[in-house]
Parts: sequence; C-alpha cells; structure tokens
Amino acid sequence: MPISTWMKGLELETRPITAEVRAALDRRWAELPDHVKTANQLLGRCAVGCEGTHGVFPKCNLTCAPCYHAADANKVRIDGAHTVEQVTRQMEYLRKMRGPRAHAQLIGGEVSLLAPEDHAAALLAMRANGREPMSMTHGDFDYQYLLDVVLDKEGRPRFPRVSFAAHFDSLMRGRRGAVRPRTETELNPFREQFARMFIDLKREHGVRSYLAHNMTVTPSNVGQVGSVTRDVLEMPFDMLSFQPAAFLGDDRRWKEDFQEVTIDAVWSRIEEGAGQQLPWQATQFGDPRCNRSTAGLRVDGRFVPLLDPDEPKDLGVRDRLLHHFSGMVVGGVPAPVLTVKVLRALLRHPGDVPPILGLAQRISRRAGGLRALMGAAARRKIGFKTFVVHSFMDAAEVQPAWDLMQQGITSDDPKIAETQERLGACMYTMSHPETGKLIPACVQHSVLDPGENAGLRKLLPLTVKHP
Ligand code: SF4
Repeated sequence: MPISTWMKGLELETRPITAEVRAALDRRWAELPDHVKTANQLLGRCAVGCEGTHGVFPKCNLTCAPCYHAADANKVRIDGAHTVEQVTRQMEYLRKMRGPRAHAQLIGGEVSLLAPEDHAAALLAMRANGREPMSMTHGDFDYQYLLDVVLDKEGRPRFPRVSFAAHFDSLMRGRRGAVRPRTETELNPFREQFARMFIDLKREHGVRSYLAHNMTVTPSNVGQVGSVTRDVLEMPFDMLSFQPAAFLGDDRRWKEDFQEVTIDAVWSRIEEGAGQQLPWQATQFGDPRCNRSTAGLRVDGRFVPLLDPDEPKDLGVRDRLLHHFSGMVVGGVPAPVLTVKVLRALLRHPGDVPPILGLAQRISRRAGGLRALMGAAARRKIGFKTFVVHSFMDAAEVQPAWDLMQQGITSDDPKIAETQERLGACMYTMSHPETGKLIPACVQHSVLDPGENAGLRKLLPLTVKHP
C-alpha cells in the first residue's frame, strides 16, 4: 500500500469527528421540535437516539401483565432466517438514515427463543451496520445458551463485548423457579444468577459485558421500586431502568389502573432506594415527559453524578463538550485510536483542557477525594451506573395523535397535542425500509404491531404443513 494511502487512512481513522457523523447529528437536530432544543438536549448533539428491531421474533414464553406485545405475537413461529434477514434490512436503513453509529436493541418477543447461531448472526448484522446491539431478554436462560451465542464452534469469542438488558419484575409469570412471584425480593436470586453468568463469561473467555436491569412499574409494585433499586445496586448491573406501565399492546393483560404511576413518582422511589437525590437535569434525551436519566460513579455505595445541574461550572463544561466534541465516536474504538482522536480534538480546542480538568477535580471532590476514590477502586467498590426512567404512552392517545401527524395536523385536544409533541421528539426509533419511514416505538406498539403480527402469522405459522 502506498504510504500516502496509508497516511490518509490513518488520518481518517483518528479524525475526531467525521463529516458523516456530523451530518447525521445535524439532520437529527434539525428534525427535533423546538420545545426540546434546550441547552441540556443530547439528541442531535452527541447522539441520534436509541433504535430497536420489530417484526422479527414476536413470540415470548412468559406471560406478563401488562405485556406490550400484540395479542397475536405468540402465534408467530420463531424463524432464524426471517429474523436475520429483517434485522439486516432494518439496520441497513438505519445506517443510511441515522448515520454510522448508534445503540440498537435486538427486541421482539424473547430473544433467547432464537437459536444461539441466529441470535449471534443478528448481533453481527447489527454490528456490521455500526450499531451497538443490546439483546432484550427476560433473563430466564442458561449459561450454556449464553456461551453458544457468544462463542463460535471453535470456542472463540465472536464479540469482544456483549450488551444484554434483562427484565425482572413481579408482574412476570412463568419464570423457571419463580412462576408467580408475590414480591420483587423473591426475584433477587434470579437477578443475581443472571448477572453472575456475565462475570463468568469475562473470567473464562475474556468477553466484557454491559448489563441493564429493566422493571415495569404499576401501582402494585411501585412501592417496591426503592427496595429493587437498593438490591440491584449491589449487583453487577450497569444500568437500572424503570418503565411505568402504559395501556399498550395486549389489552387482555391490562389488569390495573396505571395512570397514577408517573415519571416523578418512580424517580422519587429510585432516589429513596439509592438513599440520596439523583440529579438528572443537566442532560436530556428527547422529551422530559418520556425520558429521565442520570449517569455517574458509584463510590463506596454513594452515587456521584458526572454533572451537577446546580453547579454552573459543570454546565459550562457540558456546553463546551457538546459544542466542540459531540459526534466523536468512542464506542467500539480501539484504545490507541481513541487516544489519538481525543488528543487531536484537544489540540484543536486547547482552551477546553483546564475546564475538563476542573470537572474531573469536582467529581473527585464529590466522591470524597482522590484517596477515597483510590481506596474504593482497591476494594472494587467503584463502578459506573446509569439510572433511567422511560415512560411509554397509551395506545388510545398514540393512535389518533399519529393519524393526525400523518396528515400534518396538530390536534386541538391538549392531551393528543401533548402526545404529538412527544412523538415528534421521540428518541426510540424503529426502522421501516419498506415504507421509507422511521417510527417511534410507541407508534410501533400501538398502531403497527397488530397488523404486522397478523401478517407474520400467515408468513410464519406455528405449524408448518408438509405436502
Ligand atoms: S417511544 Fe414513546 S415514550 Fe419513548 S421516547 Fe418515543 S414517543 Fe417518547
């Protein structure tokens, strides 16, 4: 290879922000409604949002109440070839429309009903399109299944790192060993057992993991959100994510009145479990009525937010980073390449170095000082944690709101207008290459899933008739 071509390749690989990523972010920002173009907004600045698959493997072997899957979902056969083909098409379209890098969920029914080879092939198809995949599961599978997904036939890792989100809550029915749990606490051994598989995976095969713990919240278990938070914080989950239930999906499984479980109510229960306030206002993904999150270090049992919304200097650093560094892809980049990227970015903005160091000092101070940080690291009592609440909307509002949006009409009904605002700022997208549309997940589940599953029932019947 001529030296000039090599140099050009190296320059491109270590370029802090590529034109393609920048263009995708600028497009995303331009599409956002004005009400979410706030100083703390991350969409269109450093992220294009989260993505998910649909119509790929709708079946699930648990029976939860509520369940977001359409009534027909369990009448569709799990079919590996169909899954991989659809995942590939959907991811190719997202790559085209949303740029070369995003987080995407491999989601449908239960992912572990896929044969391990098909599960692995779907993850590889997502990665091939620049997506960082996360497999969404109920977590009721054995270690051997995980090994068969992660390792190839020769026992070599197919991936350097895997991400799984496991859903555990007492509204779920049919888990092996906890068929009908009465309390959230009963599920703790299953939560621990799930997370332990990934510790073993790292120790035995060197494959790293990112783990999210998901919980649906209704009036019947909202009182236990605090204890779940307290217990799960002691387990090796990286993210604790809570979803207040919505009237969405299979209406035969709507058993309670979900209206009273608001995003504020859930957040205050999480804070109660964490034993402290969890400031979140410094950053926002999409609409604050849909999402709330905060990220930080957990040091010796205390959460230390990366950004304190009440500290103007922290917000100043946030603004600088969003202005100068957003669009820098860090996930999946080898450490030496990332180091050069960061150095090149800092050389371009040397004035950002003192404020960034100042932020690092403040984080260290909030954690009790360098000595406390080092002591916690030595005792392995330090880790990165993210708290999330994602609040889906009811189908009864999403359907009319979406219908009007397709006609370019803003509703004069305040509730439907609010739904339209939230859909317009959606950060969780599903891809429809066949229609050339990107669809909010609320619309997918409320409006499109029933028809899609009816079609899949015919395409992939449970019993195959042989001639
Ligand atoms: S999927 Fe629904 S609740 Fe979630 S961000 Fe999109 S519009 Fe909001």
